[in-house]
Amino acid sequence: MKNKPQVIVAGAGPVGLLTALALAKCDIPVLVLEAEPGLTLDLRAGTYHPPSLEMMAPYGVTDEMLKTAIKVPRWQIRDRKAGLIVEWDVSEIADLTPYPYRLHLEQHRLTPIIFDKLKACANVEVRFSHDVTGLSQASDKVTVTAETPAGIEKYEADWLVGADGGRSIIRKCIGVEFEGFTWPERFVVASTIYDYAPHGYTLNAYVADPDEWAALFKMPDDGPPGIWRVIFPVPPEEEDAVTLSEETVERRMQGFMPKAGRYPIKYKSIYRVHQRVAKDFRAGRVLLAGDAAHLNNPMGAFGLNGGIHDAINLSQKLAKVCRGEAGDALLDLYVRQRRTVNLEYVQEYSIKNLKRLAAKTDAERMANFDELRRQAATREGRREFLLVSSMIASVRRANAII
Ligand SMILES: Cc1cc2nc3c(=O)[nH]c(=O)nc-3n(C[C@H](O)[C@H](O)[C@H](O)COP(=O)(O)OP(=O)(O)OC[C@H]3O[C@@H](n4cnc5c(N)ncnc54)[C@H](O)[C@@H]3O)c2cc1C
Repeated sequence: MKNKPQVIVAGAGPVGLLTALALAKCDIPVLVLEAEPGLTLDLRAGTYHPPSLEMMAPYGVTDEMLKTAIKVPRWQIRDRKAGLIVEWDVSEIADLTPYPYRLHLEQHRLTPIIFDKLKACANVEVRFSHDVTGLSQASDKVTVTAETPAGIEKYEADWLVGADGGRSIIRKCIGVEFEGFTWPERFVVASTIYDYAPHGYTLNAYVADPDEWAALFKMPDDGPPGIWRVIFPVPPEEEDAVTLSEETVERRMQGFMPKAGRYPIKYKSIYRVHQRVAKDFRAGRVLLAGDAAHLNNPMGAFGLNGGIHDAINLSQKLAKVCRGEAGDALLDLYVRQRRTVNLEYVQEYSIKNLKRLAAKTDAERMANFDELRRQAATREGRREFLLVSSMIASVRRANAII
């Protein structure tokens, strides 16, 4: 990079890389510092909503994703015993978006796409094996300390974006509280080539059950026929090693869909799940985005999508501030817009989605299903549901905040 960076981004996850790309395309020099030696193989996110695809399209990312991703126009909410409760058809809102579907692509196949676009930008540098350990701020600059293969290094810029994930060192350094809670149960994710479609499952389905709900997502994997990810809750007392053992994974998979012979399992992982929002997304010259700013359970696929919306919102505003076209108060608008909708939509609906899947009593389950069926019965009700579940409502709400 020829010039001193105007912005340092901590973290080369999807949110950090996209922030860097959007800034670079506005001619802002950016330095990305990533702790790991390369892009990570991350099995977490995989579902992208229409507004995220619209936001990434101008950078050529969406077209690249479409080459290998799976389009999921229809998705279901089911009950383990009663079967199908409702099936949603995202194409019913095709008048509102050029991408009327959920798009499935593993997070670790998205990051190389963004990284390739970054490599074509002369004003961006990504340094791997650079573990950010601290920062200090003055009125005119921010200094970042990182442990690097060459020892401890210091880097200066006008602004710092902390996109360094849920355990964000940047958030800790600026002393911002991460308000919320951690669910007692963890989630186990197992991936299998076994095909659930012949059993009536859409490529994304959420299955309610008082004892063991499930969520299914068909992913492209290395290519056709692709792979099904199945998520189950794990009781607090179960040890990780037990959860991830072949026997326990097999028992859960067979319990959900009995079949002859063992399930072929390609990947399995376990996650602790949180609902947390940083008390502020800004402290002076430091801003937070993505998981560093907010965490939620994956029922609804709002986590990374929300991070993508942060990245685009923030980089457009930060570019204006860097170019002297706007005062830094514009960055407070980023915080108001993105923090508000994270609380009002992402937290609210991801919690509601999980509680609906896990509802314990028959009365609760029936009330949930009645509400869904009522909503699905009219065009107006379906569109209202689809606007929220596809995150269009949250983006509209953010844009309306001034
Ligand atoms: C089971 C599961 C399924 C999910 N499915 C979905 C889904 O379908 N859709 C969705 O929208 N979301 C989903 N999510 C959430 C999604 O995975 C996250 O929201 C997303 O990874 C956030 O991206 P990020 O770039 O903010 O953070 P991360 O992906 O965590 O990236 C942070 C980066 O910062 C780096 N880093 C950390 N510390 C430092 C440091 N000190 N210095 C330098 N670099 C550092 C890390 O190595 C990493 O590369 C899911 C989550 C789980 C657990």
